[in-house]
Amino acid sequence: MFVHQSFDGTRSAFSLSLLKVSAGGRCDCVVQSSSPLWLDTHWVGRQILCPGEECPFCGNLPSRSQGYLVVTVDVAGETKPFLLEFTGTSALRFDERLRFFEIELKPGLEISLFRKSKRSPLVMEPGAADRAFDPCLADDRRLLNAIAVIFGLPLCAAKSSRATWAVESMPVALSLCRTREGKFSAEMCSA
Ligand SMILES: [Zn+2]
Repeated sequence: MFVHQSFDGTRSAFSLSLLKVSAGGRCDCVVQSSSPLWLDTHWVGRQILCPGEECPFCGNLPSRSQGYLVVTVDVAGETKPFLLEFTGTSALRFDERLRFFEIELKPGLEISLFRKSKRSPLVMEPGAADRAFDPCLADDRRLLNAIAVIFGLPLCAAKSSRATWAVESMPVALSLCRTREGKFSAEMCSA
């Protein structure tokens, strides 16, 4: 159910494994982040962050929006943090469920995760809203740094907000795209 990603150096301190729910699988998690972070990505042999305006892939390749939240899961009696990744399709249904039950997405909300088949979107069903959460994990920088490690972006500074982190990260995301663009077209030519 869990895919562990390993990273080198001090950045590894900020890495979080992506929470994977396999086909037919179920998993309960507790939200830690205050709100999801939405990012646009492209698939170029691997997932890469779209840097926006000057992106070399936009217009040529489809992009998709992905939401991210830091969550915790009880694994063999131990509470462990993970990064939950979900698509707009999953989020749309989840938002409807939240509205229906008049529940707010915030730290401490339990979510039951379910995936019917490999190709079907992750189903997110809200549960109890008053589960315990960890203020350290609820800190936005925990979410930003976990994202930074996954996409090879700079870690956020002590007082960074989402906006300042995005401003610092996008030039790096753009240069990563340009490097990948060269390699990707070479791979496509040789394929
Ligand atoms: Zn793009």
